[in-house]
Amino acid sequence: MHPRVVILGGGFAGVAAARELKDLDAEVLLIDRRNHHIFQPLLYQVATAVLAPAEVAAPLRQLAKHQANLSVMMGEVDEIDVASKLVRVAPPGLATRTVAFDYLVVATGVHPTYFGHDEFAKFAPSLKTLTDAEFIRARVLGAYELAELADDAEARARALTFILVGAGPTGVELAASIAQMARITLRRNFRHADPADTRILLLEGAPRVLPSFSERLTQKVERRLGKLGVEVRTGVMVERVDERGVVVAGERIESNTVLWTAGVQVSPLIKQLGVPTDRAGRASVGPRLNCEANPEVFVIGDAASVIQDGHPLPGVAQVAIQQGRFVGGVIGAHVQQRPFLRTFRYRNRGNMAVVGRNFAILERGRLRLSGVATWLLWALLHVMFLPQLQNRLRVQIQWLWSYVTGQRSSRLIPEPRVEKPPITAFPEKRRPDVTHAK
Ligand SMILES: Cc1cc2nc3c(=O)[nH]c(=O)nc-3n(C[C@H](O)[C@H](O)[C@H](O)COP(=O)(O)OP(=O)(O)OC[C@H]3O[C@@H](n4cnc5c(N)ncnc54)[C@H](O)[C@@H]3O)c2cc1C
Repeated sequence: MHPRVVILGGGFAGVAAARELKDLDAEVLLIDRRNHHIFQPLLYQVATAVLAPAEVAAPLRQLAKHQANLSVMMGEVDEIDVASKLVRVAPPGLATRTVAFDYLVVATGVHPTYFGHDEFAKFAPSLKTLTDAEFIRARVLGAYELAELADDAEARARALTFILVGAGPTGVELAASIAQMARITLRRNFRHADPADTRILLLEGAPRVLPSFSERLTQKVERRLGKLGVEVRTGVMVERVDERGVVVAGERIESNTVLWTAGVQVSPLIKQLGVPTDRAGRASVGPRLNCEANPEVFVIGDAASVIQDGHPLPGVAQVAIQQGRFVGGVIGAHVQQRPFLRTFRYRNRGNMAVVGRNFAILERGRLRLSGVATWLLWALLHVMFLPQLQNRLRVQIQWLWSYVTGQRSSRLIPEPRVEKPPITAFPEKRRPDVTHAK
C-alpha cells in the first residue's frame, strides 16, 4: 500500500508541496473548493479590467496532468479529524465523503475579515477570488455608467468617488490602477460625465501606507499616489459602511463604490487541529511546519504562523511556496525512511509593490529600490511566476497592448443572469422558410 498524502488547498503553498512530491512512491490527493489555482498578486488587474480571469488562473487538473501520482478532488473541506486521520469533503452537488490520510498538509490560506463588522461586507466587497475580481470590475465600470446618467452634480460626484479601506499592497495597487484607468483608458468615452473628475480615497488605520515596507519607501509611494490623484488618509478608522458610502473619523463621505482591502483571517478548520494559534487564528507550527502532537499534520502558507528571528513571517506568496517545497521534502524523506535534519528557514528574496504603471518599490534587506527599472523587474518576475506558459504569453500580450494604447481589454460588465423559459421551437406561423439542399 502506498502512503496517502492529502493536501488541502491548491494555492501557492499546496501546489508547491504537491510538485515537490512528484517522484515519490505515494498517492497524493489535492483537495480544493475551486477547480483552479489563482495567481493572487495580479487579481487587482482583473478587478480593474487590465486582465481577464483566465489569464491569472490555471485549472488544477491541468497542473496535475503530468504528475502521475497526483489526483485532484474539487470540494469544500469542512472537518478534519486528526485522531482518526480523516477529512470530510463536500463535493459540489454530491453527498459528503470522508478521505483517509497518512500525511496531511493544510494549506487553506486566509479570507478577508471585516473586524467584527460583517454588515460592511454587503456594501464593501473584498478581493480574494476571481468572482470577487469580476464583481469589483463590474462595480467600478458601472460607477461610470451611473455618472453618465446622473441627474445632478451631487449624484455624479457620488458615482465618481471610490473609497478603498486598507492601504496594504492590494489597496495601493487597486487605487493606482483605478486612477490610471480614469485618466487614460476612459478618457473621451463619456458624453456627460468626465472620468477626470474621479475622486479616489485610500483610508488606512496605521500611520502610513504599506506598513510592512520601510518609511522612506512608503513616503515615495504616498507622493506617487498623490501625483495620480489618490487622496491618502492615514491613522483614520472607518466607523460605518453603508449604501451611501462611509463614515470615517466622524465625517461622512458619499460614495457608490467602497472596496474593502483590509485584514484577513484563517479558516475555522485550523481550530480543529487543536494547535495553538496566533491572534489572527493562524496555526503555530514547529520548525518542521508540523503540529507537535500530530507530526504527520503540517500547516503551511498563510494559514501558518511561523516566527523567524523574533518576527512572524509575512503572508506572501514566496513564504507559501518555500514552505510547500520544504514540507514536500520532509514528507518525502519520511516515506523513504531517509533522515531529514533541516528545519524551515525563509529566504527573503525581496518584497515588492506596484503603484500604477512605471513605478514599483522593492525592499530586500538594506536594499531599497523604486521607479521605472523596479517596475520592469516587478513585471518580469510576475510573468515568470505565473503558473502556465499560456498565462505568461497572454499576460505579456495584454500588458504590451495596454502599455502602448492605454486600453484595457476586459472592460465588461456582465449582464445579471435571468431565468428564462427555454426556447423550444419557432412558433408555427413564423417558421422560416428553409430549403435543405439535397
Ligand atoms: C488580492 C491579493 C493580492 C496579493 N498580492 C500579493 C503580492 O503582490 N505578492 C505576494 O507575495 N503575495 C500577495 N498576496 C498574498 C499571497 O497571495 C498569499 O500569501 C498566498 O496566496 C498564500 O498562499 P496559500 O497557499 O497559503 O493560500 P491561497 O493561495 O489563498 O490558497 C488557499 C487555497 O485553499 C482553498 N481552500 C480554502 N479553504 C478551503 C476549504 N475549506 N476546502 C477546500 N479548499 C479550501 C482555496 O480555495 C485556495 O485555493 C496577495 C493576496 C491577495 C488576496
